[in-house]
Amino acid sequence: MSKVPELFGSMVFDDSVMRTKLPKISYKEFRRTIEAGEPLSLELANVIASAMKDWAVEKGITHFTHWFQPMTGITAEKHDSFISPLGDGKVIMDFSGKELIRGEPDASSFPSGGLRATFEARGYTAWDPTSPAFIKDNTLCIPTAFCSYGGEALDKKTPLMRSNEAINRQALRILKLFGTRAKRVFATVGPEQEYFLISKEMFEKRRDLVYTGRTLFGAKSPKGQEMDDHYFGAIDPAVAAYMKDLDEELWKLGVLAKTEHKEVAPAQYELAPIFSAVNTATDHNQLTMELMKKVALRHNMVCLLHEKPFAGINGSGKHNNWSLSTDTGLNLLEPGESPQENAQFLLFLAAVIKAVDDYQDLLRVSVASAGNDHRLGANEAPPAILSMFLGDQLTGILDAIATGKPYNGSMAEDMTIGVNVLPRFPKDLTDRNRTSPFAFTGNKFEFRMPGSTFSIAGPNFVLNTIVAEELSQFADLLEGASDFTKALNDLIKKTVREHQRIIFNGDGYADAWQAEAAKRGLSNLKSTPEALPTFISQKSIALFTRHGVLSETEIFSRYEITLENYCKTIDIEATTMLDMARKNILPAVMRYTRYLAETAMAKKTLSPSIGCALEESLVSKLSLRAACLDKKIEALDSLLLGAKEHTDLLDCAKYHHDSIFAAMQELRAVADELEAAVDEDVWPFPTYGKILFSI
Ligand code: ADP
Ligand code: MG
Repeated sequence: MSKVPELFGSMVFDDSVMRTKLPKISYKEFRRTIEAGEPLSLELANVIASAMKDWAVEKGITHFTHWFQPMTGITAEKHDSFISPLGDGKVIMDFSGKELIRGEPDASSFPSGGLRATFEARGYTAWDPTSPAFIKDNTLCIPTAFCSYGGEALDKKTPLMRSNEAINRQALRILKLFGTRAKRVFATVGPEQEYFLISKEMFEKRRDLVYTGRTLFGAKSPKGQEMDDHYFGAIDPAVAAYMKDLDEELWKLGVLAKTEHKEVAPAQYELAPIFSAVNTATDHNQLTMELMKKVALRHNMVCLLHEKPFAGINGSGKHNNWSLSTDTGLNLLEPGESPQENAQFLLFLAAVIKAVDDYQDLLRVSVASAGNDHRLGANEAPPAILSMFLGDQLTGILDAIATGKPYNGSMAEDMTIGVNVLPRFPKDLTDRNRTSPFAFTGNKFEFRMPGSTFSIAGPNFVLNTIVAEELSQFADLLEGASDFTKALNDLIKKTVREHQRIIFNGDGYADAWQAEAAKRGLSNLKSTPEALPTFISQKSIALFTRHGVLSETEIFSRYEITLENYCKTIDIEATTMLDMARKNILPAVMRYTRYLAETAMAKKTLSPSIGCALEESLVSKLSLRAACLDKKIEALDSLLLGAKEHTDLLDCAKYHHDSIFAAMQELRAVADELEAAVDEDVWPFPTYGKILFSI
């Protein structure tokens, strides 16, 4: 391996490469347009495209692609070569500014939620110059946004970029009031990615894993995570080799892969990068997921990103660490040294508190999927209820502000924001709460609800937009105030008082919290079909349209895509279950039953005096259970057929949740009992024990 600093970013056409490869005047113009958020001129695009192509060709690259993030949740690409005919039978390698800034993939097969009828199949991709081009699989990849011809967003990146503009606009208004100098404000994100690694051989033997990414059957392994002996344990050589390989691939692409460790469940791991601007963090997380899978195959392993690959042990999430930063490097959620910095911090904090309380439902929607519904509320991840953890100290300070009483007795006088200095909040590691869905961790918030397969674009465009909304309300009020300090104090006091219900520092997994949350009036949207209607509410439409993040049509299209995806996921899972139950499980049980019956007969033939009570009892038990399994199969099958009756999408999603999914669980329960009752050698696929301890 070459030295890491040289390896790092070696496949990225980043700022430092641009500085050396572009004419000085073009480089300056490029920086200026980026900072001003203006579109690139064609002339400048031509210069950049040519430099980009030269750089790529030097590395032996022959193709380019517009790389985008359609609503499927994975990334898409269509490769074109650089060749351009010269007319004399020869070609040159060519790449124009037009090709750089705009592409027109035939997009009829990407989900559009009714936005784009197939006869107007064309969509277009547009380069997002804030995200650098890179080389992957011998192809120059240009990160782009993906829109319909009418300009409607068909991807995950577009609303994210729009939301970054919204938060920039509103946060700058606030900073101006405090006299804080900054040209831009943007969200910073560090997503911690959880995943499972299993042996490829085991994976291929399980059609549920192959088709759906999770096991649909499987009795509990005698050993799971009971001993807590996997978490942070020493990493086995095979996995260590995988991680090293993965790190190198990620570093080449400029991904700041930093921390790797074992997670709670057997075969579960985590990778955390160093945080970056949300735009690149989103691209990098997509690349991380892609490479995790690819690199695993090279090591004869399979990386499972599903939120719940195995029942009975923890699933995988993606902790979205989020903060706001200025272009000058100031973290707006970091308490400062001076009264003024503290006041500014408290105002931003108040905006986040109000945002999470006012828009709990939208945050819940942003993490809704069939896969993630398995985790939320299953005592391994936060419940489906939004609440915020601030820690005792910060909560104490906010209480003091709300009530006007001295804080903890340690400060004798009332605290006037903007006049008194706040106590420093030490980043005390013991002051941690792992059960909160939205935890303040000293200088950022950790949103713990997103699922492991999610693009972080969704949760972050919602977060950015709801906080932008609160900041805009605050700015409206404060800009008109005659006494700024007084208005600020009143505003923070009022906000804390009105939104205290969202702050909860206790155990989010406890049943008592469910009851307490209900008393506080917090919403508890347990499943995707329950959560989604809030996305198309008037309140949600008003919010997203006001900040130019999503139009009403785009909201409806996303609503449809999410529900459709939910139904399809459950359809595929149910069909796979039927297939496995009919073609593998039942025949295996029958074979084993026959073997037992034949054993009994053979014994009787040998001598009628040999007892066959055990065989008889087993045959009778297995026959009963097999009959029961057959009933559950038929029940699920007819429910699945019944889905056709539900033409309304929400109605259909509810039906999938209440009827089909419920029947799947019943079928699984019987099959898992059978698994536990028969000879391991006759069971048609590897057991949990074998899979989870396969590496
Ligand atoms: P832990 O959760 O164990 O305390 P860290 O504090 O190092 O770990 O952070 C976890 C993740 O949060 C990392 O990906 C880190 O880069 C990210 N992070 C740290 N500071 C910020 C920030 N200001 N904005 C966004 N993410 C951040
Ligand atoms: Mg963390």
